[in-house]
Amino acid sequence: EQDVAEYRKSLAIRVSGFDVPRPIKTFNDSGFSTQLMHAISKQGYEKPTSIQCQALPIVLSGRDIIGIAKTGSGKTASFVLPMIVHIMDQPELQKEEGPIGVICAPTRELAHQIYLETKKFAKSHGIRVSAVYGGMSKLDQFKELKAGCEIVIATPGRLIDMLKMKALTMLRATYLVLDEADRMFDLGFEPQIRSIVGQIRPDRQTLLFSATMPRKVEKLAREILTDPVRVTVGEVGM
Ligand code: ADP
Ligand code: MG
Repeated sequence: EQDVAEYRKSLAIRVSGFDVPRPIKTFNDSGFSTQLMHAISKQGYEKPTSIQCQALPIVLSGRDIIGIAKTGSGKTASFVLPMIVHIMDQPELQKEEGPIGVICAPTRELAHQIYLETKKFAKSHGIRVSAVYGGMSKLDQFKELKAGCEIVIATPGRLIDMLKMKALTMLRATYLVLDEADRMFDLGFEPQIRSIVGQIRPDRQTLLFSATMPRKVEKLAREILTDPVRVTVGEVGM
């Protein structure tokens, strides 16, 4: 336990919540499949970043998480890698419809970046990824979603539009990520986020990532996450 505390300190990590899994030191410690390990090394990722060291074992254990770390700290892989594992663990992938993993991001640029990062890991697993955001034809996105996917990455407004058009259902969704939650609030997406969360089964796993943690985001997190573990890397402003 003393070792774990010191290791966390060396990573500038603080945690709160009950029964927090211990941080890993290498990607291998995560028990990833050979296939996923191959995809990771293909990206040139030699070892996990601080947030990844602590977030990966938490998310892989099925827990909800609040991850607070500054931009550039590697938050994306913290939710994408366990999402691949989560999806590969599902029985009978193709039987039902709709995405299993749902990722919300504040802007089309961020959604696109996450899409690119996700594709790198999803491709070799035969997992289909769709991205939907403003500025693209709704009809094209409707058709793409209708064709089916296991992961959808979306800006909140456009995802609501697609749900209203019945381009997808959330029946199969069990893994929800709210990325850059603070920015989504700044952009006024709180109602859309609440609406999306309300359409996903309550026994889902929920992950919330943010660079800062203002009161309003904290309040939402308390409402929509279940017994989350909170991980903070470095010094983070409110
Ligand atoms: P954040 O979401 O925290 O701003 P990103 O997930 O976008 O950060 O990651 C920032 C950059 O670091 C990206 O270019 C990503 O490919 C790279 N990266 C992520 N994890 C690792 C790692 N373990 N080793 C090396 N590079 C990494
Ligand atoms: Mg990010």
